Amino acid sequence: MSERRTITPTHRYRNNDKLIGIGNAFWNRSYENGVAGIVGDLEDGVFHMPDGHEFVNFTVCSYLDLDTHPAVIDGAVASLRRFGVLDHCIPRTRVQTPVLLELEESLGELFGAMVISALSTAAASTGLLPMIASGHLGNGTRPLMVFDKNAHVSLAHAKPSCADESEVVTCGHHDLDFIEDMCLTYERVCYVVDGSDSLGGYAPVQELAELQDKYNLLVFYDDSHSLSAYGERGIGYVRTHSPVLDERTITVATLTKGFGAGGTAILLDGYPEQTRRLVERFAGPLGYSQKMNAAAVGAALASAEIHRTEELTRLQGRLRSNIALFDSLVQTEQAEGTYPIRVVPMSDDTVVDAAKQVFAAGFYTSPVFFPIVARGTAGLRVMLRAGQSADQIKRLCTALVEAGARPAGPLPGAVHR
Ligand SMILES: *Cc1c(COP(=O)(O)O)cnc(C)c1O
Repeated sequence: MSERRTITPTHRYRNNDKLIGIGNAFWNRSYENGVAGIVGDLEDGVFHMPDGHEFVNFTVCSYLDLDTHPAVIDGAVASLRRFGVLDHCIPRTRVQTPVLLELEESLGELFGAMVISALSTAAASTGLLPMIASGHLGNGTRPLMVFDKNAHVSLAHAKPSCADESEVVTCGHHDLDFIEDMCLTYERVCYVVDGSDSLGGYAPVQELAELQDKYNLLVFYDDSHSLSAYGERGIGYVRTHSPVLDERTITVATLTKGFGAGGTAILLDGYPEQTRRLVERFAGPLGYSQKMNAAAVGAALASAEIHRTEELTRLQGRLRSNIALFDSLVQTEQAEGTYPIRVVPMSDDTVVDAAKQVFAAGFYTSPVFFPIVARGTAGLRVMLRAGQSADQIKRLCTALVEAGARPAGPLPGAVHR
């Protein structure tokens, strides 16, 4: 038996020992303290737990509350009845009902792009990135794949499969000098980055556009956090600010966060219609797994209609004033930004107790702490939404300050109640 071999992993692009070793300790501590694994019924914006505890969830990414909008719910139900089938299980490239075509036409008009839908952004990126790495989506040249260090896990997940098609490197966060160096070294480069970061901040789209013009750089943006919440008709940060909306810019954005439905939109510009066929056939799960189902499509069609009206502008305005109200009460590094996520600083030792205390006061905020984030950067993640009332935000802020958050404003402690 002694000659049987053990395996030494290369861990060039992933490492489960590290991921699970670090991550599971974090989850276990959260779970044991009752700030993870929570179950409750949602009614009129309030969660009701079996033990009678009630709370408002301040860690939901549905920034405009479209996920519970009556028109969106009705849209989902009506669509299921209209198309008569939730998911006709066969690749759409063979036989399909018009359900996805209707959605893609609507979203295409809304966002001014060629839209291909997929079950999730994770599924879309998993499928698209290796196609970019092999040059089949792009101009035929295999690009060096440069992943931003902070790229969302759904993007980083594609590194090993991209590495089998091309070369993969990871660069510092928004390291434009490195990207330019690579553009000078390699025939073609693709930079993979979040358009809007999960912890606040946006990609340097203007500076990247200059590199796109100078070196034909391809940029793959995941703009999931800013769709709907940002820009005219909710077109998101990248499409609002990037001057390069052609085949050198590929964007994916979830329809599950601000958009309030389900699935994802792949946004392409300047690609021929055949590209759609190629993506549908060969972009991983898009070709072999399920698609957005009729209920999700109905919800998305209804949400798209809301995006075409004044109501969207009103909801975006309410989101902005809720963010401003929060910033006037609690200090965070993200204050003053347009981004709806805040991290209320706490110490690694106190953050879980703070989360428990705030939860007992009727608000869920999610604690992040070492080893999930670097030592000294622990905090409670708070997400503002259009549908939160001023009273809920004020009471949350009072609870946060009582749990150790620093009040905002000129006089420490001068919290408006
Ligand atoms: C939430 C999020 C995702 C996941 O989106 P799904 O459509 O649920 O797969 C992907 N990327 C980013 C940047 C996200 O914030």
